[in-house]
Amino acid sequence: MNIILLGAPGSGKGTQAAKLVEAFGLVHISTGDMLRAAVSASTPLGVEAKKYMDAGDLVPDELIIGLIKDRLKEEDTEKGFILDGFPRSTSQAIALDEQLAELKRTIDVAIAIDVDAEVIVNRISTRRFCPACGRSTNASEGEYCIICGCALEVRADDKEDVVRKRLNVYEQNTAPLIDYYRGKGILRSIDGDRPVSVVWEDVEKIASGD
Ligand code: AMP
Repeated sequence: MNIILLGAPGSGKGTQAAKLVEAFGLVHISTGDMLRAAVSASTPLGVEAKKYMDAGDLVPDELIIGLIKDRLKEEDTEKGFILDGFPRSTSQAIALDEQLAELKRTIDVAIAIDVDAEVIVNRISTRRFCPACGRSTNASEGEYCIICGCALEVRADDKEDVVRKRLNVYEQNTAPLIDYYRGKGILRSIDGDRPVSVVWEDVEKIASGD
């Protein structure tokens, strides 16, 4: 099963992706995580991408499309994958279609997780990450990482003004993909403004082919 998770930043894509990995053994491909790893390692890609990420803008296609094409060629993706944060624009969706055709693979379903913008701004304000182990968590965990003990931080792009910009960028560039995948007959929309376990019930059913 190959799945695209669509949804605004903070809609819960990463959380549901982690559950899909656990339940179905799929490979989780998050372009946000890949870019953050490149930023931490100060690779040329990371240095270039950071400027856009910190401002809440999309990283240019020429930086991201090659990255995802290479990732999809890796053997582990043959057992099924979840794309989280890619594609984020129609041009990326078209590039993905081309790459999948070359690899003779298809997307089975695009799951759109729908959450109201104000709920998202509120949710993201409590989001934290551990700079040492890279784990994403929530302020309810306390000030320090429960795994490695480092002080938790707020992602630069999780500050409220940047979040509002990211939501704007989502509406302009990414939301049109809902119609793109509806047109292909593979869209499933779910209400993401419910507890994680309830959203998961829907996601699990869809991933089971229901
Ligand atoms: P995320 O963790 O998915 O919210 O991504 C964090 C940031 O990485 C985004 O705000 C963008 O700056 C960048 N990014 C992630 N995925 C993409 C993508 N597919 N296209 C362009 N920029 C991306």
